[in-house]
Amino acid sequence: MVAIKCQRCSRITWTAVVCNYCGKVVCDKCVKTSKRVKRRDIAKLHICKDCWSNLEKRKMYRNNVPLIISEFVVPKG
Ligand SMILES: [Zn+2]
Ligand SMILES: [Zn+2]
Repeated sequence: MVAIKCQRCSRITWTAVVCNYCGKVVCDKCVKTSKRVKRRDIAKLHICKDCWSNLEKRKMYRNNVPLIISEFVVPKG
């Protein structure tokens, strides 16, 4: 397994995801919510707690629209 440092709280995690609204690699504690989307480019949308407090970003999340599609893939141990 590869340990990843959360870019929001600096915690070391093994279950990081990339926030689709700021592009940060965040741990499960910093992800506000995630959901599956029917898109070709991404399977899931993630939004971190910082972006959740931004009304525009939250609205995009509600409408299943990602702001950032990261190339980062969380390595699987
Ligand atoms: Zn974190
Ligand atoms: Zn974010």
